[in-house]
Amino acid sequence: MKKIEHLGIAVRNLEEANATYSKLFNQEPYKLEVVESEGVSTSFFLVGENKIELLEATNPDSAIAKFIEKKGEGIHHVAFDVDDIHAEMDRLRKEGFTILNEEPKRGADNKLVCFIHPKSANGVLIELCQEIK
Ligand code: ZN
Repeated sequence: MKKIEHLGIAVRNLEEANATYSKLFNQEPYKLEVVESEGVSTSFFLVGENKIELLEATNPDSAIAKFIEKKGEGIHHVAFDVDDIHAEMDRLRKEGFTILNEEPKRGADNKLVCFIHPKSANGVLIELCQEIK
C-alpha cells in the first residue's frame, strides 16, 4: 500500500454536505459521480494532496444507508492506493483478512476497488483502490 488515497464520509444529503464542505475547504468538489452498482452518489474534494469523498445513499439497501441508520453520518472508510489490487487481495486473504468482494469492482473516480470487512480491521472499513489506466 502506497498512501491513503481518500477518506470516505457518509452523508444524509449530498447537496447540503457539498455546500458545507465547499465552505470548509473554500473550493467546490472537482467531481460528482453516481456509482449505480454501489447505490451511492459521490463527490470528491481535493485538499492539497488529500482527497475527501462524500457519499450519499441512492436507495435504502445501499451500504451507506445502512451505515447511517446504525451509526449516523461520519467517516465511513479509509481508502488506500495500491499498484496491484489482485496481488494485494491475495496477500491480505492469506493474512486472514475478510475481503468483501471476490473480485475487484469498478468504483468512483476511475478506480478498481475492494473492501475489507471492518471486523478484520478493528472496526475500520478499509478500501483498496487501484487506478484504472
Ligand atoms: Zn471510497
